[in-house]
Amino acid sequence: QSLAAIRASQPTINAFTHVAEETAMQAAEAVDADRKAGKTLGPLAGLPVAIKDVLCTSDMPTTCSSKMLEGFVPPYDATVVARLKSAGAIVVGKTNMDEFAMGASTETSAMGVTGNPWDTTKTPGGSSGGAAAAVAAGAVPLSLGTDTGGSIRQPAAFCGITGLKPTYGRVSRYGLVAFASSLDQAGPMGWSVDDVAIGLQAMAGYDPRDSTSVNAEVPDFTPAMAAEDVRGMRIGVLREGLDQDGISPAVRDALATAESVFREQGAEIVEVELPHSKYWVPTYYVIAPCEASSNLSRFDGAHYGYRVADAEIAAADSGPLEAMYSLSRAGGFGSEVKRRIMVGTYALSEGYYDAYYNQALKVRRLIRNDYDAAFQQVDLMLGPVTPSPAFALNEKTDDPIAMYLCDLFTVGANLAGVPAISLPGGFDAVGLPVGVQLQAPVMEETRLLRAGNVFQ
Ligand code: GLN
Repeated sequence: QSLAAIRASQPTINAFTHVAEETAMQAAEAVDADRKAGKTLGPLAGLPVAIKDVLCTSDMPTTCSSKMLEGFVPPYDATVVARLKSAGAIVVGKTNMDEFAMGASTETSAMGVTGNPWDTTKTPGGSSGGAAAAVAAGAVPLSLGTDTGGSIRQPAAFCGITGLKPTYGRVSRYGLVAFASSLDQAGPMGWSVDDVAIGLQAMAGYDPRDSTSVNAEVPDFTPAMAAEDVRGMRIGVLREGLDQDGISPAVRDALATAESVFREQGAEIVEVELPHSKYWVPTYYVIAPCEASSNLSRFDGAHYGYRVADAEIAAADSGPLEAMYSLSRAGGFGSEVKRRIMVGTYALSEGYYDAYYNQALKVRRLIRNDYDAAFQQVDLMLGPVTPSPAFALNEKTDDPIAMYLCDLFTVGANLAGVPAISLPGGFDAVGLPVGVQLQAPVMEETRLLRAGNVFQ
């Protein structure tokens, strides 16, 4: 059924970079055989899932939607993929994304754009646009995305689904092709909070193969979230930036509705401020490119994927080694990825390191301190996810700054390392979905799910 839905939606939505017809059918038959043999089945037995194409999969390509990794098949599964498979899930394919997860609309992909299932002339958001669209199009009930600065939450909001970015360290990054290692986190995307809780349960937990993975107990999310509601919770509302030009009224309306729902459910709504929030985007756009420029140095034409043709190397003026590196990188990476590498290399270079990178790290500490102080006063923070509902394809592709401003409300959680969830929060005047965001203190995913559960 899932494969049929993928086939039907691919021509208009293009959510998938690879559809695993054969391996998915084999996995489904294996689950069937186990069932017939009376074996104990995993909690996700037979569930079709889609995986963002930045997570390594041993039996299908992992391209990061880049020409650089065309045809690359990793020799191993990312820990999160291995965990889903061992819970019985069936990986039906890999989903489209912005190239190396850099973008907010899935338009920097080298594999073509993805349409928003609610209106195919609009973007599904990014960078996990394919993963969100796959769920919204009814192709899978659960997908895995990754979120470095909002890439799970923004496409979830644009596609009217639920997406959770876990606490940094809650979920293993082993086998997640690194963009900005100190910010990247994989997380579940699904229609409902219940589905996302089930997905998180399967993914989360300590992994000795990721040195930043946190060795903490993983709660039993589903019963824990159902055990309590929001009565007595203090929810702080974040309004910073909401009265700027360019913020859609529908975003303010969704927030107001969410406030009243939580109030009716017995939560206390208070105002809260994160004083350094105006520095979130500039800080992120120094730190993320710096880490990216270092992480992406491994794509050199020798180790993985794309290498320029020998004839071109031979024809170059520089020596063959330098020509292989530079021509392969020039031909393999798209323009947004190159922009990030240049910004990051510049900000890390001698003489600029202190002025940019080091300074950004100091501001990041202040941002984290803001979160710590706010969570002394409130249990959760409620705010917007995106400045507007889904925008038109091509609307922002020539304007990187406009694209970066999509991250206005989401990068704080990554810089501070806290968990955050995007919940469907209503519709705008033309019927496009609008999200609302909840953020919780580190390791308090249960609190997000609990509040999300009463809201949905
Ligand atoms: N839009 C942000 C960026 O382009 C976030 C991307 C992400 O979370 N992967 O960097």
